[in-house]
Amino acid sequence: MIGQLIVGGLLSALMGGLGYWRQSLTISGVVGAILVGTLIFGLGGWVWGLLLITFFVSSSWLSHYRQADKQAVAEKFAKGSRRDLGQALANGGLGAILAVVYARYPEPLLFAAFVGAMSTVNADTWATEVGVLSRVPPRLITTGRPVPPGTSGGVTRLGMWASVAGALLIGAMATALMQVQSLFSGQGWSSEVISYPFLAIIGGLSGSLLDSLLGATVQGIYFCRQCDKETESPVHRCGQRTQLVRGQRWLNNDLVNFLASLLGALISASVAWVLG
Ligand SMILES: [Zn+2]
Repeated sequence: MIGQLIVGGLLSALMGGLGYWRQSLTISGVVGAILVGTLIFGLGGWVWGLLLITFFVSSSWLSHYRQADKQAVAEKFAKGSRRDLGQALANGGLGAILAVVYARYPEPLLFAAFVGAMSTVNADTWATEVGVLSRVPPRLITTGRPVPPGTSGGVTRLGMWASVAGALLIGAMATALMQVQSLFSGQGWSSEVISYPFLAIIGGLSGSLLDSLLGATVQGIYFCRQCDKETESPVHRCGQRTQLVRGQRWLNNDLVNFLASLLGALISASVAWVLG
């Protein structure tokens, strides 16, 4: 296990360095990526690690996709396109916890939960990065009222399709990787692994739905007077302290993401349990 943790640490450091160089991560984000990656690779194994990489690579690629078009609305996002420690833990923290438990109790339902958690964060990131390009303005998920692009809890049709695709990618990768693992371990073709895309979509969409609902209701949302803009951060990127306009101060975007991944994990594991 120590050897596997060291290999996991080296691979994560490589990914973290790449993320920093590609301007997807801050220094603290690199630390978070190494922490999360080492635990997931080292304790979950290579299938878990490659699912994390699928999330990491696809979402950082999408965050650079048509970046210039996003600059204007990016103001709204709490921290710009570089992810920090809080975001790394919000997206990968639950996966790391599941890997720690899995090392002690190698229960297949824990892998289903991991697929649900990764599907949620991938679906969410894809929905945000693609949805922001929608030509139709988003509508608040609770009231249906049109809101400016980038508003927490605002949803678009484009964003919803992106979240389905994001979850599906994780599920399809889980099926492919588990099939390869089954073949390599001499167990032949496995028919049990085909349910992962289904688990991923159900879990990922439930998690994303919770993310939008919390974003529209109880998440802390602030207003910067200097820039006349709404933001998710108590200190705006211009440096100005902002004022709380709705929601709870303690419920920030990172905590919302973490709670969403928790629901996604619970739903996917429950469906896997029902399916046997
Ligand atoms: Zn400002």
